[in-house]
Amino acid sequence: MSNFNILVVEDEDAIRRMLMMVLEQAGFMPIAAADAEEAQRAMDETLPDLILLDWMLPGISGVEWARRLKKEPIYRELPIILLTARGEEEDKVKGLEIGADDYMTKPFSPKELIARIRAVLRRSGKIQGQAQIVLGDLVLDTEQHRLSIRDKQLEVSPTEFRLMQFFMTHPDKVYSRTQLLDQVWGRSVYIEERTIDVHIRRLRKILGEYGREDLVQTVRGFGYRFSLAG
Ligand code: CA
Repeated sequence: MSNFNILVVEDEDAIRRMLMMVLEQAGFMPIAAADAEEAQRAMDETLPDLILLDWMLPGISGVEWARRLKKEPIYRELPIILLTARGEEEDKVKGLEIGADDYMTKPFSPKELIARIRAVLRRSGKIQGQAQIVLGDLVLDTEQHRLSIRDKQLEVSPTEFRLMQFFMTHPDKVYSRTQLLDQVWGRSVYIEERTIDVHIRRLRKILGEYGREDLVQTVRGFGYRFSLAG
């Protein structure tokens, strides 16, 4: 399992430590937080790939924090698995209604937890069923970090690779420069928005060598869209 950041928000020390250990052993990079405020601070530093969120937290409850996150555009697609000690069907429905991606009742086995995390990451497009993302004649290999078009390897920088990975897993949607910054660079990195334009120009130039500069489209006044539709 490659380096996925999992934010663990759990106020009970013993459970939090257990979760951290299980996640590390599975090859994830867990970050610990004891409440929503600490979790928010951690997120400002590193945007996680998934949040494991305890329902009952002191202060802002897990379910309330999840509801707030799902209203913010930059966090809307951030997968959340709610953990709860209560197994009532009503809670489960409520958890999923506010936008949580999955719901687990304590106690659960480490094996089940890891399987659920992988399933959610897969559904959210963060893990591909295979290491390759194929879109039209483009192939992006996430293990070898290679991008090719009609079997010709393209010379892209690591940043442009990440940008293409984001585009290829989110085709046909328009993203603002701010959204792209958050998604591709992370929130803590300070980068001017026009830096994105520079990378987009470079990407278009590289794709243009194969006549595909139209893949990355400018949506005037808003941002960029990646689309095979032209
Ligand atoms: Ca708790």
